[in-house]
Amino acid sequence: MTDGIEDKKLAGLLTAFDLAYQRAVNAVTNDRDLDRAFRRVTALGDHVQALREQLTLMRATTAAQLYASDDDRSYSKLAERVGISKARAAQLVTQAKEADMKQYDSQLLTDQQRDGIACVVCQAEPRTMRPVGRSDQGQVFACSAHPDSEVERAG
Ligand SMILES: [Zn+2]
Repeated sequence: MTDGIEDKKLAGLLTAFDLAYQRAVNAVTNDRDLDRAFRRVTALGDHVQALREQLTLMRATTAAQLYASDDDRSYSKLAERVGISKARAAQLVTQAKEADMKQYDSQLLTDQQRDGIACVVCQAEPRTMRPVGRSDQGQVFACSAHPDSEVERAG
């Protein structure tokens, strides 16, 4: 499909989106029960916020795909291609990589594992490890010798 047709299709979807939004706002603002109106506008805000967060991540993932598709893997080239700063380009690619990492439950990790000092597989504390995922406390690591299958099972 050409860009023109795709753009028209997207414009139509955005119009439908705006209409749905307007209907939701009308439903809330026409409510005489202000307690219920407050609850509903809060729920509406949370819903839109969640959509916004998904789109932010989707944007980062798309930027990371552009970055990976270029043999040079250059933040400068990515920045120029999509019209953002080099620092922002690097930030988007990092954001996508972090979101793609395995999530570890920090409750199941030792303090050393949570702090990124100990391996999430064997609890050893070697000088060099590789990043294998995140917990809600930050990045976690494993010895380079562990195969991915072992790392997947940990945590
Ligand atoms: Zn280890």
